[in-house]
Amino acid sequence: MEAVRTPATAQPTRARTRLLRIESVTVTPHAVIARVLSAPDALRTSVSPGFAERALALLPGLKRHRCDNGSAHGIVGELDDTETPHALEHVAFELMALSGSPRNLKGRTAWDFARDGRGAFEVALEYDVDLVALGALKAGVVIVEWLVAPAGQAPDIEAVVEGLCATRSAALG
Ligand SMILES: [Zn+2]
Repeated sequence: MEAVRTPATAQPTRARTRLLRIESVTVTPHAVIARVLSAPDALRTSVSPGFAERALALLPGLKRHRCDNGSAHGIVGELDDTETPHALEHVAFELMALSGSPRNLKGRTAWDFARDGRGAFEVALEYDVDLVALGALKAGVVIVEWLVAPAGQAPDIEAVVEGLCATRSAALG
């Protein structure tokens, strides 16, 4: 999984209340490609100390993830200081894996703030079942928002995975 960085330039930001929002999704034969908007004050997970610890407590399988981000500090260090939509990419893949998707699917989080506006990212996920990837992205947004700003009860991962398993069964049935 790689992240491509391009220099940020001053762009007007959109007003929004949520930390992450999926603006649109394109499904190609090989990948689900989401345009994800990240709030200006939550562009990186480092705004939220303990992000990786919380992420691993909820989703221990994240430890097994690899990331071709050029990060020397491994996935845990990466999760603690990376683009928030890149964390979403990994959380979505973990949810997919827990519901039966292969662990060798590839993803990519990319952005060009100069072209698309500050906070606009593209998160691409390969999939085995497209509806499972879509569901994982949608649930992943809620989970990552909680990881950034934990308030109230932690997300119910078991319920999310049950839902994705049901989606998988229905899609393959
Ligand atoms: Zn990655």
